[in-house]
Amino acid sequence: MSVSPEPTPGTLWIVATPIGNLDDLSPRAVETLERVSVVAAEDTRTSRRLFADRPAPEMVSLHEHNEAATCASLVERLEHGHDIALVSDAGTPLVSDPGYRLVAAAHDAEVPVRTVPGPCAAIAALSVAGLPSDRFWFEGFLPPRASQRRTRLEELSGLPVTMIFYAPARDLPAVTADMHTVLGPNRPATLARELTKLHETVHRARLEDLAEWIAADPDQQRGEAVLVVAGNPDPSPAINPQALARELARELPPSRAAKVLARLTGINRKDAWRIIDEFGD
Ligand code: SAM
Repeated sequence: MSVSPEPTPGTLWIVATPIGNLDDLSPRAVETLERVSVVAAEDTRTSRRLFADRPAPEMVSLHEHNEAATCASLVERLEHGHDIALVSDAGTPLVSDPGYRLVAAAHDAEVPVRTVPGPCAAIAALSVAGLPSDRFWFEGFLPPRASQRRTRLEELSGLPVTMIFYAPARDLPAVTADMHTVLGPNRPATLARELTKLHETVHRARLEDLAEWIAADPDQQRGEAVLVVAGNPDPSPAINPQALARELARELPPSRAAKVLARLTGINRKDAWRIIDEFGD
């Protein structure tokens, strides 16, 4: 077994914590959380359970809304030699969770940043999904509004690699219905729900069947879920933006043409306007 380098005082530790089963907290995570002077947590009450009966160190709340402001004071404490651990409510910090700004600020201040790796719902789901895992796209949460969600799925529909989505299970009927509509009925997909918990469910089916199975069973609409969806087996050849722009400029007013061009090709709106402009009369 190899041994990690000795900790340097004033290190920011990014510590993964369980996604359900507390036994998944690694010995190294326990040792790190006990050694640091401060734990920065998304929700300090949730993270206190990691200490069971042991005394918890000082806990500072770090969430989406206060991250920018809290970063500066945490980095100052790191620069004074205090060790800080960053945890999220569950899983690996920064993966659809806060922390990016703090880690970036620590690097800017040349403070050491170390990892204590562990559970991550996306990787756990991928590992049991039975779908190609050599390359994959992590999408995280889709937009909650149906129209935006469908637009985003359309943008992803050509991707040839396995895609990973986070979703609260109550949203699964709507999300899987949209996936069925936009991505088609036949792609294999896996629901990984309540991983490591009492009602853990892993179910693989064609998208159409998966959507129907979830809609018919209210139990599948409870808790936390990850959807892993196979990539497009037959991605269309890359669209040539110039050829597409010429056709769009013929058929649509310039603002609509630029909008559609940007959406279909992924180029930014300004470049799309410039290209459409070249074909204008
Ligand atoms: N940072 C976390 C990680 O590493 O997995 C993810 C945080 S994100 C805010 C929460 C989402 O992760 C949930 O909505 C769900 O999609 C997924 N998730 C978390 N725990 C899960 C579990 N036990 N089973 C399935 N999905 C889970």
